[in-house]
Amino acid sequence: MSLILVDVLAPGGPRPADPEAPLLHADDLGAVRGDGVFETLLVRDGRACNLARHEARFRASAAMLRLPEPDMGLWRRARELALAAWPGGEAAMRWVYSRGRESTGRPTGYILISPAPPRRTRVRVLLAERGFSLDAGARAPWALIGAKTLSYAANMAALRHAREQGHDDVLFTTAGGELLEGPTSTLVLVRDGALATPDPGEGILPGTTQAALFAEAAAAGIDCAAGRLHAAELHAADSAWLVSSVRIAARITAVDGMALPDPGEAAERDFRRLCDRALAR
Ligand code: PLP
Repeated sequence: MSLILVDVLAPGGPRPADPEAPLLHADDLGAVRGDGVFETLLVRDGRACNLARHEARFRASAAMLRLPEPDMGLWRRARELALAAWPGGEAAMRWVYSRGRESTGRPTGYILISPAPPRRTRVRVLLAERGFSLDAGARAPWALIGAKTLSYAANMAALRHAREQGHDDVLFTTAGGELLEGPTSTLVLVRDGALATPDPGEGILPGTTQAALFAEAAAAGIDCAAGRLHAAELHAADSAWLVSSVRIAARITAVDGMALPDPGEAAERDFRRLCDRALAR
């Protein structure tokens, strides 16, 4: 499998690294505590998609963790090196920025490009309580809700739990049944031709794909709104989607084993086209 690795914070500036050789030290706080942030971008047609939104979230996540402000000039150079080395085809580009070695305090940063995994375009989801309330972010900023941190073990555990029960993915909810997000995706509903998503301000990660999609849709005259959504609304929607950078859009076909209405081929194609156009900007 082709992998491209660039060490962003190497002394003297970004430089390509051997993806088959170790890069991290054993005391890297990203590895031993998940203390760091990351982004995953889609590489399509030789370019990184939705770049400005990923850069903005990367910087915001780093600020929430009080990491040294990332030097975006270095990250840009590293990205260009990585893209120039990529042989082609759709890929996932990860930016990883950790607090670095416990023993030196120097942050670690690298960019990794790997082939995009096969896409699942339809998913059956399990509703799963997230375990903290919608306003937890305000009351407990140390919960780092809204930052894309390296601590994804709980999200992966939720996915494993769903798969063990025969579902494909998870949709997190509050204890009261309000819809939040997937472990690696944002929920978007289509209702009467308009788009709706859970309010990114309330206990979820602001999704870059959803933001690009809403910008594209609004420019095309489609109503878009972020607000509180309840689980019951999934069944009333024309269609429901999990969107994220590399997978792009997976239509939810069932919730807790109950089928959702099928919007039909044309509606499904229109939604995917809108996503593709949004990412092509
Ligand atoms: N929510 C969570 C928790 C995520 O991990 C992700 C992406 O991995 C998303 C939403 C979707 O974000 P994006 O569209 O920026 O990939």
